[in-house]
Amino acid sequence: MKVKVGAYTFTVVFGVTEEGKDGECDLESQVIHVDSTLGNDRRREVLLHELLHAAWYQTALKRIFEDEDEELIIWSLACQLLEFFRQPNLVHYLRHATAPYRPVAYFQGDDE
Ligand SMILES: [Zn+2]
Repeated sequence: MKVKVGAYTFTVVFGVTEEGKDGECDLESQVIHVDSTLGNDRRREVLLHELLHAAWYQTALKRIFEDEDEELIIWSLACQLLEFFRQPNLVHYLRHATAPYRPVAYFQGDDE
């Protein structure tokens, strides 16, 4: 899978990762590795986490925060953002600002 993050196109590889790591983002090779043995929810969270690292590397945030701060901030945001993306009406609204936002419809199974 190819994913565009800022000025870079990353290749996402689901497979074996370095021991002890659920995922890795290599800016130099523009490859994101995600452990394919993770559960479905965790695998998606890790992918989003690594995509946020890819985005982070392209911002001035890298100059302001220490590495451990980066990890904490990205870890905190990934779970929250993933939940946003699981709400189709919210995603539709964010992508198409003129569309009506009807969050209740999501829970009623109305994916209009
Ligand atoms: Zn990380």
